[in-house]
Amino acid sequence: MATAFAPKVFKNYINGEWVEARGGKTIENRNPANRNELVGMFPASGAQDVQEAVDAAKSAYKKWRLVPAPKRAEMLFRAAEILVERKEDYARDMTREMGKILSETRGDVQEAIDMTYLMAGEGRRQFGHVAPSELPSKFAMAVRAPIGVAGMITPWNFPMAIPSWKVMPALVCGNTIVLKPAEDTPLSTYNLTQALAEAGLPPGVLNVVFGDGPQAGAPMLDNPDVDLLSFTGSTEVGRIVSQACAPTFKKCHLEMGGKNIIIVMDDANLELAIEGAVWGGFGTTGQRCTAASRVGVHKKVYGEFVEKFVERVKKLKVGDGVDAATEMGPCINEQQLKTVMSYVEIGKSEGAKLAIGGHRLESGALAKGWFHEPTVFVDCNGKMRICQEEIFGPVVAVIPFGTFEEAIEIANGVSYGLSASIYTRDVNKAFRAQRDLETGIVYVNAPTIGAEVHLPFGGTKNTGNGHREAGLAALDFYSEWKTVYFDYSDKLQRAQIDSA
Ligand code: ADP
Repeated sequence: MATAFAPKVFKNYINGEWVEARGGKTIENRNPANRNELVGMFPASGAQDVQEAVDAAKSAYKKWRLVPAPKRAEMLFRAAEILVERKEDYARDMTREMGKILSETRGDVQEAIDMTYLMAGEGRRQFGHVAPSELPSKFAMAVRAPIGVAGMITPWNFPMAIPSWKVMPALVCGNTIVLKPAEDTPLSTYNLTQALAEAGLPPGVLNVVFGDGPQAGAPMLDNPDVDLLSFTGSTEVGRIVSQACAPTFKKCHLEMGGKNIIIVMDDANLELAIEGAVWGGFGTTGQRCTAASRVGVHKKVYGEFVEKFVERVKKLKVGDGVDAATEMGPCINEQQLKTVMSYVEIGKSEGAKLAIGGHRLESGALAKGWFHEPTVFVDCNGKMRICQEEIFGPVVAVIPFGTFEEAIEIANGVSYGLSASIYTRDVNKAFRAQRDLETGIVYVNAPTIGAEVHLPFGGTKNTGNGHREAGLAALDFYSEWKTVYFDYSDKLQRAQIDSA
């Protein structure tokens, strides 16, 4: 186990070997709940390391694409079994490096397990289409073909689940991979890689290069040997990724920010809505792209909702996520904490009323980490910056509204479109909401978080660029349709002409 005195030194995984970064530099991985705890040292990779990983992936692709998909899937199945065995250890590692509470990190590992089993099952499906031809003695079909080398850049908030959303469908479709995980949470990706390596993936099929974005991520973007790129992170970096991929026509998948809302109608089960708003707003310390950072509440129940919501938030126990009593962990790093603190000032200056929280937590052991109070602003209006911009921290803005139409307008009045939720017992309003909310995901009587792996995940507007991950939709990104015609008539038959 890593200690402060003898930190474990981790390596990149290139062509089936664990290797140091060429530059010999490392990045510290520290516990955000206790900055004195060094979790490990990881390579600070650069362009040369990325190129070596890309070369390995390109070379391995020649064979991997020809391995029958059910055989590829057997390796995934074995990896899933390993993850099941090590779930508790991997969850504890994740809490140490990322800060979220143990029940949530167990969920993160479980999501990777679910995704790995799901895609293992796809090894025997990946169905295509067979269609009748318009010409006699001709056969027509469309099959899924692998694409090549897939580059992946992942964030720190779901350090095992998100890499698995990308890695598993890419592998089962027959692509090879270069993955650059977030610099704040490399250990969880290391653990995932270890499981896949032990499951028997051939050398070069999965390559992992640790390091920061500009040094170890950016070199993938314009590399002509990287055929597709999947990115999850901020909208600002997503824009850089999209632009850098354009000149080489890379297929590019972007999963970016969110400013998600829970709408509470006057006929809602208020207790349930409050429970949902607490979990949606403060689960993962609000550091989910699907976090419910806005709550719109009907004026008829506004007073009661605010009173009970604030009361419940006041009781949230903040601390180290390994403690079973903790309900909310720290922010991931100092920068994120500062961002949260600056948005608290912005909220106050905009005239939002601070109902609870608003400060960094620094008493006792909390001083060693990046903790912030769960914070609620009330009496907000939808146009305020705290209701428009993604904060990615434990800050919820409560917005009163008068009618269903107004609620939908507030919900849609942001530049993001990931997730939205409505609490109501009126089935007509629930159906109208799921039709009219401009988000990729809609929940009824549940908060904005809680995606399941076998359904598509992604958003509209500045959240995404039209692709989806997870579910069968993931196969559409990691494979290409190949249409195949067999003419067994022994003569020239011209489509559209001879069939007339
Ligand atoms: P977050 O706010 O969640 O940290 P970022 O968008 O900054 O989101 O980071 C998400 C991922 O993108 C991380 O793996 C990070 O290292 C990477 N990244 C950051 N900047 C760049 C860049 N210029 N090029 C490529 N990858 C980057």
